[in-house]
This record gives sequence, structure tokens and C-alpha cells, in this order.
Amino acid sequence: MKTFYDERNMLFSRMRLKKGTQEYQEYYKKHPDIQAQDDAMRGMNITDKLRVSDQYKSLFFPITKHNKAILKSLHHLVDKTPLGDPIALPKNFSKNIKAITKHFGADDVGIVKLSKDHFYTHHGKQSEDIGWPLYGKETDKDYQYAIVYIMKMNLEMINRAPHHEELLETENVYLNIGYLGSRLALYIKQLGYKSTFQSEAFYLTPLVPLAYDAGLGEIGMANHIVHPIYGDRIRLGAVLTNLPLEADEPIDFGLEAFCKRCSLCLMNCPSRSIKHLPRTINHRRFYKFNDQTCFQLWKNTGTDCGTCLQSCPFTQGIDQETIQWMKNNPKRIDSVIAKHLEKHTRRRYTKHPLKIVTIEEE
Ligand code: SF4
Ligand code: SF4
Repeated sequence: MKTFYDERNMLFSRMRLKKGTQEYQEYYKKHPDIQAQDDAMRGMNITDKLRVSDQYKSLFFPITKHNKAILKSLHHLVDKTPLGDPIALPKNFSKNIKAITKHFGADDVGIVKLSKDHFYTHHGKQSEDIGWPLYGKETDKDYQYAIVYIMKMNLEMINRAPHHEELLETENVYLNIGYLGSRLALYIKQLGYKSTFQSEAFYLTPLVPLAYDAGLGEIGMANHIVHPIYGDRIRLGAVLTNLPLEADEPIDFGLEAFCKRCSLCLMNCPSRSIKHLPRTINHRRFYKFNDQTCFQLWKNTGTDCGTCLQSCPFTQGIDQETIQWMKNNPKRIDSVIAKHLEKHTRRRYTKHPLKIVTIEEE
């Protein structure tokens, strides 16, 4: 039986529900089991708990403060309608689209033929930031293809997780994902085809199933896409369109067997939100995960943690030959994990801060 995703169930949408509103009442009438813990986290600002001086905060937070406003202007610039009649496309145009997506800054790209279960059934609250009151409305599913792409995050910054460098890099790449998507959507509209882009402020689909189907990686124990080159230090983006394209296939580089022997994200997770309990959703392998305890940890530490991203041996880099050599071979996997532990210990962590914002004494 197919599972259909609903953006209203996403934690960030739930957190925006205001107590006493009709939306709040209706949602928790259907989901009473998660109400108390959601309420305990509601209205929180994760940055309040960041353990740095007020002066540092006043210099640091403006770096990302206007990201959502920039995304808003991009979404308002790119409405979905084509800018003319469709032009004739050459054979294998998918190759061109991939090359153009990389030219705009993607580190990898794949294509998915969309079906109804790729889409959220309804919008949640994510698009409030761009001024679109879409909550509870059905999503526009009139798109045939998704061009799905990744951008890598800086390893030096991810290795400082759970400190604020990780948060800064995440926000930085989220913005770049949106900027890239807006340029690609505008390009496709110029060719005469309907197109829109997703960003952290506007989603029509969840991204992990799309990225899996696009062949950009496999789903790891933390339920993120693990890319064979960049591991878990990536962010995902997608442009949806009715431009005719050729779809890619999921890849298999042996991650399921590797995760079974590894569990480093699980062992390092400070909130114990990751479980080695596989579950299949629409033919894709996911793992049981507690989004509430993960977010509670963010609330208590003042960053978006990211320790799981940093812990993954693929994030620190495993060469492609080794990946092939150890694929689905427990003994070889164990030897690769042993070498990883020798070099990086159980968790690669860089303590000293990156000097992005510095405050020198008088
Ligand atoms: S972000 Fe941190 S708390 Fe959340 S799952 Fe990853 S390691 Fe655990
Ligand atoms: S840290 Fe290990 S268990 Fe977790 S996703 Fe990466 S490979 Fe899988």
C-alpha cells in the first residue's frame, strides 16, 4: 500500500501551529499522541541557547538573518508559468539539463519521473516565510519531472558540529540551493515549459525520496541521503517541470550492509533519536527516527547539531575503489570501519572555532 506524505506532519510545520487556533485544534485532534511534546518545544528560538556572548550573537546572526527574505524574493520572481511557447528540444536534452545544473553550482544531479506519491498531499506551514498562506491546501501536482541536485557542505565546518559553524554552513547551502533552483527554473520557463523550484521555504515534495529515486545516494541510518562521494554533508534541492526528460535509477553502493556494521551516527547521536530499526516506505528503506528528541536537543544547545552528518565515514571520505571492493562484504566493511576509527576516532570533531566572526580584546 502506498504512503502519501503530508507536509502538515513535518516537525517544522507543527512547530508553527499556534495554540488556540483552529488549525492547531484540528491538527492535534487527529494527532493527540505527539501534542504534549510538541507543545513543550513550541515557540522556541534555537539560537537563544547558543553558548556565546551577546556581542558575538549580534555579529553572528545577521549573517543569515535575511536568507528567507532573499528566498522570498526569488520565489516571487519565479512564478511557474512558461515565458513563451515550448521550443523543440534536441535528443538527449537531459544531458544538457544536468550539465547546466552543474554549471549553476550543483555537485551532482539526477532526474525523476514524478508520480502522485512523490508529492506532499497538502501544504504545511513552511511557505509562511515567503508570504504564501498555503496551509491545508492541496499541492500542485501538475509536474512530470523533477531535476534533483545536491550541493556539498564544507567539511571543515561540518566537522565543528554541533557548534555554530555547522549551523552557518547549513543555512548558507540552503540559500545557495534555492538560488540555483530559481536560475534553473527561470531557464526552463524561458524554453517555454512550466517550472518551479523548491527551497527551505517552499516544498511540493519531500526531498529524500526524490534524491533516492534520482540516484544521488542511498538512505542512511539517520534517514538522510548518503552520497557515495560527499557522504552526509550535502543539502538537497529540486526543480519541478513538465519539460520532457529521461529519468535516472536509484543506485546501490552497499550502504545498507555498511550501516549494519557501522552505526556511528546512532552511537554519536546525543539525543538517541536514531534507531537501527529499518522500515520500508513506498519501496524505499528508511529507519525509525524520533524527530521530537532531535529537535529538543537543538533547542537545548542552540544549534542544529549535525553530529550525525559529521559521524558518517562517507562524510569523511571513502574512495570509490574501496566502496566497490567492500560492497556487501562484512569482513571488508569491518576493515574499512576499523581504519576509519583509527584515523578519525568514533567521531571526527574539530574543537577550535573557525575565525569567521572574531572579537579581539581592546
Ligand atoms: S542532528 Fe544531532 S540530535 Fe539530531 S539526529 Fe543528528 S546527531 Fe541526533
Ligand atoms: S554513520 Fe554509519 S550507520 Fe550512519 S548513515 Fe553513515 S554509514 Fe550508515
